Amino acid sequence: VQIFHDNSSRIAARNVIEKLRKLAMIDPLTGLANRRYLDKVIDSKTDEMKRYNFSFGLVFIDIDHFKNVNDRYGHDVGDKVLWSVAQNLSTMVRSSDIIGRWGGEEFVAVVLNLEQEELEAVAEKMRKTIEALEIPGNGSPVNVTISLGATLAKAENGLDKNGILRKADELLYASKNQGRNRVTLG
Ligand code: GH3
Ligand code: MG
Ligand code: MG
Repeated sequence: VQIFHDNSSRIAARNVIEKLRKLAMIDPLTGLANRRYLDKVIDSKTDEMKRYNFSFGLVFIDIDHFKNVNDRYGHDVGDKVLWSVAQNLSTMVRSSDIIGRWGGEEFVAVVLNLEQEELEAVAEKMRKTIEALEIPGNGSPVNVTISLGATLAKAENGLDKNGILRKADELLYASKNQGRNRVTLG
């Protein structure tokens, strides 16, 4: 009995630790990976890029004029929109890829084993899917669009992690500048 008791409490403690570990990596609103987790993934993918010459795609995604959604429909509907966009984006990557919430109304996807053309196709599919979404609000459905910046990180480009992040962010910014609801690749 003593042994059983010791064992079960150890298992219980292990379960609690596992739950806490997940909570520490998951964004509570969307259920997606949080920034801390994304950051770790980008760290390790950058290492693999340098060490093994593996490339990976990085996609920055930002909801257009999201402040207007909150202003028009309220913060609760805004939260629903974030949740809905997150669920839809997460179905558009492979299970071995990672998509998470970078902050506010920004998402980041790390997509593996692809070339520039496929990266563009994934990003464009995300853009089209979100554009077509009818999200239930208070009464009439809410429509949003996203702007994206996508880059294929390769060892030959000689960028470190911060350089890759900066590049994706600049490409997203270019999509915003050119009128939003578009993909910029670089
Ligand atoms: P842009 O097209 O340039 O991206 O415009 P924007 O309005 O989307 O960008 P801005 O950065 O001005 O505003 C982002 C808004 O996102 C402001 C903030 O209130 C809202 N937001 C951030 N986090 C949350 C959240 O968790 N829930 C809700 N409802 N709103 C959020
Ligand atoms: Mg933003
Ligand atoms: Mg925005």
